[in-house]
Amino acid sequence: MKSKNKEEKKILRDMCTRCGTCCMKGGPVLHNQDKKILVSGYVGYHHLVTIRKDELAFNPLKNRIEPSETELIKIKGKGNDWSCYFYNVKESSCIIYENRFLECRLLKCWDNSDLISIIGRDTLMRKDIINRDDPILSIIETHEKECPFNEINNLLYALPQEKNKSKLLVKLKDYVNKDITIRSYALSELGLKSEFEPFIFGRPLFKILSAYGISVHMSKDILRWYLPEPEDPLSGISEIKQKGRET
Ligand code: SF4
Repeated sequence: MKSKNKEEKKILRDMCTRCGTCCMKGGPVLHNQDKKILVSGYVGYHHLVTIRKDELAFNPLKNRIEPSETELIKIKGKGNDWSCYFYNVKESSCIIYENRFLECRLLKCWDNSDLISIIGRDTLMRKDIINRDDPILSIIETHEKECPFNEINNLLYALPQEKNKSKLLVKLKDYVNKDITIRSYALSELGLKSEFEPFIFGRPLFKILSAYGISVHMSKDILRWYLPEPEDPLSGISEIKQKGRET
């Protein structure tokens, strides 16, 4: 009976009631049509996060989480929450409503056909937004080459079945270290602002690993991480000095 009422409400609704559910599920992916909002200055690099190619992401077309077929730029969440950065919970409103993005304008929770029609089409990538003379582009290229997500995924998929995990964990640690080293170089040597880091390099690998049960913590300027190794659990603990990073 309860589910029938829910279904009726779903069918009867034909306008936004500002419940906020959509905005709290996460910010939109940006499309070419959104470039003008970035150019106008309403939204900056510090509002963005990059989903790298092959990074796990929710695919609304298949209604499941899977490796992203392409690089995507999203509006970031608040803290550890994916709730859209621009959503004002107290007011149940979007603080950039007049300049909201294509996906936000097409999103209707009672009928997702318009939104579905543009998913994966004309989406923006970092190179579409960053000035082509900016030296950070070559660092991004190095980062992609040194820390490719498809190879990291292969290691993560193989890990649960692998009897001798040590070899895989060493490779994984190597990727984590490279990811950190490249980010630190960009922050300390190129003067990259830390608030731009999620857009320039995506989420740090050590944070992403926690979704796989591999726990990594940053405390002050020291990163402590634990990769479970059945033979000798303590041998997975490492400390890496970090410079110019707060989180
Ligand atoms: S930009 Fe505005 S409308 Fe779009 S998800 Fe964020 S809060 Fe909601």
